Amino acid sequence: MTDFGGAIKQSQKFNLAIIGIPFDEKSCYLRGAAKGPQAIRAASTGKAINPWTELGANLEEEGVLVDLGDVDASGNFQEVFSRIERSVLEILEKNAVTVVLGGDHSITFPVVKAFARRFKPLDILHFDAHPDLYEELYGDRFSHACPFARIIEQGLARSLVQVGIRAATGEHRAKVLKHGIRMIEMKDIKDNLCLEFSNPLYISFDLDALDPAFAPGVSHHEPGGLSSRQALSILQRLKARIVGLDVVELNPERDVSGITAAAAVKIIKEVLGKIVILNKSK
Ligand code: MN
Ligand code: MN
Repeated sequence: MTDFGGAIKQSQKFNLAIIGIPFDEKSCYLRGAAKGPQAIRAASTGKAINPWTELGANLEEEGVLVDLGDVDASGNFQEVFSRIERSVLEILEKNAVTVVLGGDHSITFPVVKAFARRFKPLDILHFDAHPDLYEELYGDRFSHACPFARIIEQGLARSLVQVGIRAATGEHRAKVLKHGIRMIEMKDIKDNLCLEFSNPLYISFDLDALDPAFAPGVSHHEPGGLSSRQALSILQRLKARIVGLDVVELNPERDVSGITAAAAVKIIKEVLGKIVILNKSK
């Protein structure tokens, strides 16, 4: 059951919504991310956590957060992707901030398509060990290693900033240069990183951006990543109007005592807290 420390409401009216996408058919190595949404919900129980965020928002009182369940992920992937786009757009048309629980990272392409229809221009902040900019992987243009190549190709993002990268190839670097992507690699990361965006901001958080020591429950272990604290600080320092978030690539089959699922919950809570506080100050 979803809970987020008691913040989840049953309500027809809402301004913050969670939706799950139990889909991992585009994973190139291990399957398991389809079980991500369920594991994140289970880790959000109010028996383990409270609804307050570090920045002082009480998610139970400030804002109305609902869980709209899962998108039907059966059938061929083109059908699933259209369903994802439609479901997200429906939420955005109700003016609610949308939090997407993945699923492998391929789902970010249809999700961003929906956001780009609603928000023009749209900026994107992408946390990941991998740039996910392959033109194709093993012959598949819709692999979870390709979503940002598709997003750039369709002109869906005004600016793309990537954080946590530590597995860039020559092909990725060429794309980064060609398209003016800002890739902040782990080897260059500075303390107190403060990112500022001028357009509505979508955040895509691949949990393998975190070091495997903090988040072992992902399909691709890439050492030398962000600590949970580094990631949270970057999110807390953001200067932007955040309109949506996805947290993807949780593979519960590789998790240890649910610590990666707990990290996912924490990231979602802190981003929602930022949004709530920003709305209050308006
Ligand atoms: Mn990714
Ligand atoms: Mn990744």
